[in-house]
Amino acid sequence: MSDFTYQENIVPYSRAELAQKVAANLSESRFQHCLRVEETAIKLAELNHADVERAAIAGLVHDYAKQLPDEVFIEAIHEAGFDPELLQYGNAIWHGVVGAYFIERDLGIHDETILNAVRRHTIGAPEMTVIDQILFVADFIEPGRDFPGVVQARETAFADLAAGVRFEILNTLTFLIEGQKKIYPKTIDTYNAWVPTQAH
Ligand code: GDP
Ligand code: FE
Ligand code: FE
Repeated sequence: MSDFTYQENIVPYSRAELAQKVAANLSESRFQHCLRVEETAIKLAELNHADVERAAIAGLVHDYAKQLPDEVFIEAIHEAGFDPELLQYGNAIWHGVVGAYFIERDLGIHDETILNAVRRHTIGAPEMTVIDQILFVADFIEPGRDFPGVVQARETAFADLAAGVRFEILNTLTFLIEGQKKIYPKTIDTYNAWVPTQAH
């Protein structure tokens, strides 16, 4: 993707400078994941006639905060006006919801379409923009992912983006419940809005 040139002034950096900043905050394997999410987000944006540049930027930066220490997140939750309920959860939830705050601060990205996609990339939302859906799904199906059902997830998402979102949220919630993990209430709201075909 190194030849990908940004055409708009969404970020105060070239694509190479932005990638370097993301790489500096992440392990090599996590950075490579971000590159694959960028590439997958571009493909999904092209297929869905969506904003390729915003999809690409969202993909590249989405896990920027993933490896920050818990104390840094806890301080930001206290200081930057986040819902204190977040303190009941951990990095899995924080790196998206609170991660957008660090992306805006450190990477100079103020574009709400991108920041919202990052906020929603782990837990989704009842109402998701096309860019939200692209990032949510690209993160799940990027070529490095390997889990039971990933082939079907890819086929579904490339055929129908919204069906890819439904497949993913059902799969994630099932996995979390099977593992007896704590479910963030907004993850359930996403499930309720996207998956059931009847009200009751
Ligand atoms: P990654 O950052 O690329 O590894 O992927 P994600 O940001 O999509 O997900 C991070 C982790 O959060 C995954 O292991 C998800 O299964 C997990 N996750 C998603 N929703 C919830 C939730 O409601 N509760 C908990 N405990 N974990 C969740
Ligand atoms: Fe993530
Ligand atoms: Fe990710």
